[in-house]
Amino acid sequence: MTAKVIDGKAFAARVRSQVAGHVARLKEESGLTPGLAVVLVGEDPASQVYVRNKHSSTLEVGMASFEHRLPAETTEAELLALIGRLNADPAVHGILVQLPLPRHLDSDLVINSINPAKDVDGFHISNVGLLGTGQKAMVPCTPLGCLMMLRDQHGSLAGLDAVVVGRSNIVGKPMAQLLLGDSCTVTIAHSRTRDLAEVCRRADILVAAVGRPEMILGDWVKPGATVIDVGINRITRDGKPRLVGDVHYASAAAVAGAITPVPGGVGPMTIACLLANTLTACCRAHGLAEPEGLTA
Ligand code: NDP
Repeated sequence: MTAKVIDGKAFAARVRSQVAGHVARLKEESGLTPGLAVVLVGEDPASQVYVRNKHSSTLEVGMASFEHRLPAETTEAELLALIGRLNADPAVHGILVQLPLPRHLDSDLVINSINPAKDVDGFHISNVGLLGTGQKAMVPCTPLGCLMMLRDQHGSLAGLDAVVVGRSNIVGKPMAQLLLGDSCTVTIAHSRTRDLAEVCRRADILVAAVGRPEMILGDWVKPGATVIDVGINRITRDGKPRLVGDVHYASAAAVAGAITPVPGGVGPMTIACLLANTLTACCRAHGLAEPEGLTA
């Protein structure tokens, strides 16, 4: 069997165009423009690229983008004061603080100072609790993107065996909660899991969020399974820099029913879901119907 390749780039383009259509209608019918504020502290080069991409993607779908670039030596009090202003600003529907923060800043404290209704990354402790108890939450963008692709692939996920490899707060755990919410039978695997290969072989849905290049091999994959590779790993092969996932793509694609490539799989969905979350936050703030198909 050769797996169907799930084209995350095309999927993300569809999500962005759905968001753009909804934003245009909001403007016309309600005079509202959803707004996303992104806060970057310091000069981390990777973070600067992410923030630039978020800014341009936000403008492309017709939303307002508010960028706040603060020096690395910004104090916690100054950062919390800015978040307080953004929380109170009615033009701002989503707030994202780019992580990682410089070490002298307490990330948990900062994230938990965001108004949960504007927490478009879904990292606020209230949103974590809401998701965990099956209530309406802001959902972390990467797992939300994975869920959208899985629903598109399978329709109903009910009863399927899902294995999530990785238990981070930003990917593994929320992914598992979302799959449980869609009535999968969920296993979360991690670095202490015994016989990981055998655990993976049970999965109808296998989500890899590990951060180890090409660790999951084709013979760990159940024939016909859907494989979602969240990993982004930079390696050098044949003297050239390359981006690979946590799954050994060639061997897994020979067994799986469907698979996301790296690059071009989960990656593009993350920003698309950030835009979707900002739109959702705006609709909720104004008591309007939420965009269909763009929420968990
Ligand atoms: P973390 O490092 O926070 O978590 C990695 C998880 O993998 C941990 O739970 C760890 O287990 C587990 N793990 C590590 N080694 C093994 C092993 N040998 N066997 C089984 N489990 C193992 O990573 P993130 O969740 O933040 O990210 C995971 C990957 O996804 C990274 O490559 C990252 O770059 C990528 N990513 C991609 C995004 C996208 O937009 N596509 C967004 C976010 C992340 P333990 O808890 O026991 O240590």
